[in-house]
Amino acid sequence: MIRPVRPAQGRQVHYEMANCVFCKIAKKEIAAEVIYEDNETIAFLDIHPRAQGHAIVVPKTHRENILEAQNEELGPIFSAVKKVVSGISESISPDGFTIGINHGKFAGQEIDHLHIHIIPRFTGDGGRSIQSVADNKPSETIQETASKIKKAINK
Ligand SMILES: [Zn+2]
Repeated sequence: MIRPVRPAQGRQVHYEMANCVFCKIAKKEIAAEVIYEDNETIAFLDIHPRAQGHAIVVPKTHRENILEAQNEELGPIFSAVKKVVSGISESISPDGFTIGINHGKFAGQEIDHLHIHIIPRFTGDGGRSIQSVADNKPSETIQETASKIKKAINK
């Protein structure tokens, strides 16, 4: 399915897909500790775990981020997240989970293929909440911000 690399192309999408480590894991071209798989998704353990059971869920189709995913692709991804969280709960019994997406390089996305991190949390693990990733208080009110976002969503 992957067309030849054409460096003259602006975004080099095909080049990136051909070299995408998560696409290669999905196609079994690279080994991974796979813990769940269905037609649309695959889940495996992070090779550099931040906690026991640190897992990653990805769509098998290459999508850089949630904005590039089709609406019908999102349901299966989060169903897979639920299955993995359930499996980790039963097997490892953490005290909680942090579940999240690093969207964009600035936010810490290291692989340009949509992936959801599932990090089991344990009492005293030294981690913090997902809100703690930023401390950048806005200068406008939340009402002003809400108005802008609603306009964009409803346009
Ligand atoms: Zn990919």
